[in-house]
Amino acid sequence: MTQPNLADEVVQQAEAANVRLIRCYYTDNGGIIRGKVTYITGLRSRLADGIGLTVAMQAMNMLDQLAPVEGMGPVGEVRLVPDPATYRALPYAPRTAGMTTDMIRLDGQPWEACPRSFLKRQIAAAADLGISLQMAAEFEWSMAHKLPDGTYTPVDDALCFASTGMTMSNDVIMDIVEALEAQRIPVELYYPELGHGQQEMSIRHAGPLEAADRHIFVRETIRNVAYQHGMYASLAPKPFLDQAGNGGHIHFSLWDRAEKRNLMYEASGPYQMSTLGLSFIAGILDHLPGLLALTCPTYNSYHRLQPHFWSSAYTAWGPDNREGAVRVASSYRSDEEGSTNAELKAADLSVNPYLAYGALIAAGLDGVRRELDPGEPVLIDPANYSDEEREQRGIRRFPASLNEALDALEGDTMLTGALGPLLATSYMAVKRLEYQSFSQQDKAFEVQQHFWKF
Ligand code: GLU
Ligand code: MG
Repeated sequence: MTQPNLADEVVQQAEAANVRLIRCYYTDNGGIIRGKVTYITGLRSRLADGIGLTVAMQAMNMLDQLAPVEGMGPVGEVRLVPDPATYRALPYAPRTAGMTTDMIRLDGQPWEACPRSFLKRQIAAAADLGISLQMAAEFEWSMAHKLPDGTYTPVDDALCFASTGMTMSNDVIMDIVEALEAQRIPVELYYPELGHGQQEMSIRHAGPLEAADRHIFVRETIRNVAYQHGMYASLAPKPFLDQAGNGGHIHFSLWDRAEKRNLMYEASGPYQMSTLGLSFIAGILDHLPGLLALTCPTYNSYHRLQPHFWSSAYTAWGPDNREGAVRVASSYRSDEEGSTNAELKAADLSVNPYLAYGALIAAGLDGVRRELDPGEPVLIDPANYSDEEREQRGIRRFPASLNEALDALEGDTMLTGALGPLLATSYMAVKRLEYQSFSQQDKAFEVQQHFWKF
């Protein structure tokens, strides 16, 4: 008996559910989720052939300005090929489904500027070292109303973790939870966060590709469901400059090939971390200045990364240290091995998750290959050390702007090598143009332009 293939199953599923439109998403170098939408009758052939996309879209920034990148102009196409494994009916859009796509060249090979293919290459590099990863993001966002003048105001002034915040946002949060359940995305925790109107939801970890795909569907779900409730959900890093920023902390753990043993766990290691886990963390810290250009990738990101805001501002790590770039999360007693993981706090939700997760993996693996040591854990807020103490401990302040982070990325040949020339060049060009455009404008323009793009 032949197995029905996944593409056939998806077509049958869509037809049976009377789906008419299927959104085929990609995420660009500016971190914007875009896509093209196929009508149901074309679904079968689109799954095989993809949908045409001008190559110029990977040179477009978050202001729809085209950056100068050789070969990314009006001539030339790639194909957006949907991955049937990501198919989901979208609960907030009747008779509509969604899939994420790979950017594929006309000859059928992955395009060198395809972010999702970049992440797949990093997953393969980890597998070569016998490592499979589990990853998950925490989603923080600010819920707002739009005022007649086009600016935004938070929906509440609830306190951190306050039950009154739960009361005020109950209906919209419940609809988000049910929409995620319907998309096979398991919810872990929810609570009102510190900032006015700020919410947080975390989802279950998964392999890196599934985690990055979920990231897209979660962002879409939060934004769409809030909109249906007459609200604007902003996942931008600092949508209100006087309030706590929105993080998109990335949790990760390292497993053996069979995904049975957590290689990060060592009962007798410092904070139950294995040497392998420590080297992976050391690799992240070593590459952090350049890595930031991919994990905190917008102009607005650098207004979030300030000392004393629990978002991290220094290349430090420590157990449950919420001012460290990497926090080793304390394990839970019922499953110490299974719950051992670390979190990159220096990450937000204006990322392209395929680039951010892939670059995190590349940096960590470099630490493993070079057997790096992350040094002494930091047990206080690193901002409270004197400059001399930080220097002694090898703790560096993060780049203070997107442009500085891009300089660091440009000088990081391991990271640019992992990205490959076309992805690295187009990414740099897009982001440099964003920096240039925003630095010529005021803060009101910055906030307004970031607010509802992420
Ligand atoms: N909102 C903080 C950030 O910008 C994180 C607060 C926390 O969850 O520790 O990352
Ligand atoms: Mg939080």
